[in-house]
Amino acid sequence: MSKKAAKSVSIENDPRYQTLVDLREQMAAQIRTLSSTSLSANKQPGEEMADVGSDDFLRETELAVMDGEAQRLNKIDAALKRLKEGSYGVCTDCGKDISEGRLAAKPYAGLCIDCKSAQEAVTGGAMPDQSRRRRQFVR
Ligand SMILES: [Zn+2]
Repeated sequence: MSKKAAKSVSIENDPRYQTLVDLREQMAAQIRTLSSTSLSANKQPGEEMADVGSDDFLRETELAVMDGEAQRLNKIDAALKRLKEGSYGVCTDCGKDISEGRLAAKPYAGLCIDCKSAQEAVTGGAMPDQSRRRRQFVR
């Protein structure tokens, strides 16, 4: 099969590609470790009732962490795809360049800092006050 675009550069030699692939490998390894500890947490039949509460909590925490890692893995995959398509480092929302500093800290960032801040304001990750206020209105 011949390469379809003559102008396309092999991204395997791109340091950003290596960074993303390394990061992806780290994430995958972490997920494997977490899922194997979750699965190996087999209890003795008699112990089940005693510490089911803390065990549930532990498992939920692990699942939440795994969920976060899996999401990051998806972002890394998306970043690799953008790198292949030549749109890496460009905000997927507003189309502006993502700053070098941001990419250095988060090589898989798909949004510029402005769009990321705007998105966080909407989803309200760290703003419990707002939802509490809203709930009072709804009531
Ligand atoms: Zn943006």
